[in-house]
Amino acid sequence: MIRNILWDVDGTLLNFKDSEKHALSSCLMGAGIRPTDEMIAKYSEINKSFWERLERGELTRDQILVQRFEVFFDLIGKKVNISKFEKAYQAALANVFFYYDNSLMLCQKFKEEGFRQYVVTNGVASTQNKKLRDSKFYYIMDDVFISDEIGHPKPNQQFFKTVFDSIPNFSKEETIIIGDSLTSDIRGGNNAGIQCCWYNPRGEKPDLNVRIDYEIKHLWELQKILNNNIK
Ligand SMILES: [Mg+2]
Repeated sequence: MIRNILWDVDGTLLNFKDSEKHALSSCLMGAGIRPTDEMIAKYSEINKSFWERLERGELTRDQILVQRFEVFFDLIGKKVNISKFEKAYQAALANVFFYYDNSLMLCQKFKEEGFRQYVVTNGVASTQNKKLRDSKFYYIMDDVFISDEIGHPKPNQQFFKTVFDSIPNFSKEETIIIGDSLTSDIRGGNNAGIQCCWYNPRGEKPDLNVRIDYEIKHLWELQKILNNNIK
């Protein structure tokens, strides 16, 4: 029976793409650059590939925060003060959020039903903490685990070990992770020996050889999975 729910944040509880678009557009305008959809899509792709390099342990957090913008501004042929831009971007990103599938209400419901819920996220601690407070998840979750504070990102097993050690009376059999990323959430959950639920709202084909125990298009499908999971 599932008792512990580990939630990814960006791209799962919150719609990261819309936040990214909003934050990047406003920062580009602030730097005197007119944003286009193509630019935003390019940045999004670059950013994703950089975070995957962090997941693989190839780059540190500080390196990716700066280098993603170096690559981006090179690509669009603009010169800006990268460190100033990156600071403005982090601030903008922390100031805006959009829920997926009325996720806050779902988490509130799970809380009332007695599930223990935890945030497990790769990201910048100050940005994630502010976003979690503003979006109110902070007050529903039993605890919040941010890679930046733990010192290792998902899918690293050190990350999961820290999470498991911090949960009272923890048992792997009673635990599920829900996330949109096969490389960090599902692979991490596979290696950590817990159940894995892939949130795949756009119905994409899995491009990685991982064990997907459950796949959902809408977060509320989880209700059925958790109710059927009585062993
Ligand atoms: Mg995610």
